[in-house]
Amino acid sequence: MSDFDFDTLAVRAGQVRSQFGEHGEAIYLSSSFVFENAAQAAARFSGEAPGMVYARFTNPTVNMLQERLAALEGGERCVATASGMSAILATVMALMQAGDHIVASRSIFGATQQLFSNIIGKFAVATTFVDATNLDAYRASLTPKTKLIFVETPSNPLTEIVDIAGLAQIAKDAGVLLVVDNCFCTPALQKPLELGADIVIHSATKYLDGQGRVLGGAVVGNDALMDEVFKYLRTAGPTLSPFNAWVILKGVETLRIRMDAQSAAALELARWLEAQPQVARVHYPGLESHPQHALAMRQQKSGGAIVSFEVKGGRDAAWRVVDSTKVISITANLGDTKTTITHPASTTHGRISAEARAASGITEGLLRIAVGLESVEDLKADLQRGLGG
Ligand SMILES: *Cc1c(COP(=O)(O)O)cnc(C)c1O
Repeated sequence: MSDFDFDTLAVRAGQVRSQFGEHGEAIYLSSSFVFENAAQAAARFSGEAPGMVYARFTNPTVNMLQERLAALEGGERCVATASGMSAILATVMALMQAGDHIVASRSIFGATQQLFSNIIGKFAVATTFVDATNLDAYRASLTPKTKLIFVETPSNPLTEIVDIAGLAQIAKDAGVLLVVDNCFCTPALQKPLELGADIVIHSATKYLDGQGRVLGGAVVGNDALMDEVFKYLRTAGPTLSPFNAWVILKGVETLRIRMDAQSAAALELARWLEAQPQVARVHYPGLESHPQHALAMRQQKSGGAIVSFEVKGGRDAAWRVVDSTKVISITANLGDTKTTITHPASTTHGRISAEARAASGITEGLLRIAVGLESVEDLKADLQRGLGG
């Protein structure tokens, strides 16, 4: 279906109907599948014949989601996983071995940092963390052992932008893989594979589902790389459940519409925040004041739905804004139709040292909002109360 437009792929790619001709995608809640005879069983197990075997590595509902996500990202193949973290784990375990080296942006999801430092690190795979926006820093950190570069763009919570095409060239020249966590933009706003990345990672828990219902993850890339990721999943088993795959399939059908609406609302809210006297600074790639606005608008369709801002008066003033909300949910989750607010310095980034936090720009006055689908006027009023304007 790759000749079709994004909107058509989002609702139709990958669907396979059973003998009953169901219009919606079916959920196949079956852990195993039966064979017509011994020869068919043997051919399916060896991979010579296509078809279902066992739900740790084959399930029709999960397959439909994999086909759809591969089509939307413009990749040859997708492997779905139980969560975003297991997508990253599967990629690293499948493609790396002891002695290999990762170069990662410093501004990546906290659990990803922990995974690289404390878990993968135990198996003699070292990671060097570099400034997200400095291409020379990535280049300078490459060694003959480097196997992959891992980034997230825009970053959380400061919305730093990594130049994907520029970094892809550096990766290609060095013969290493570029892996992009595309969680914040989704393929509705940004297509890393088209910009030269080798692998795209998703936490489907966020915008792909979009309604805060299930955990899920995905890895997308070429057949050869995804075959390795699939072999890891088949053996190790961090598999997506068919029910969660079905929920995410339904979420993906409205992905582009939600991303456009939530991005437009985020831009409006960011402009409004920038005009508030109690706000010292707004971090949003869609604003002209963002230091990488031009780059963001080159590689993204819009600024996305995450807005961070710094209130004057430090932690007390920031907590007052959080505690005065009546509509916005106080939670660190994001990617939902319901707007969320979080104080990174005391939650998501609370376990890192105060010096490291300050060095990375996570100040005590910083707040992060993941804009949902409520009325922007209601969101402004909700924030206005705590800003005391
Ligand atoms: C949430 C998140 C993850 C982890 O996904 P889970 O589904 O929670 O395991 C990875 N990367 C980013 C950018 C995220 O926001």
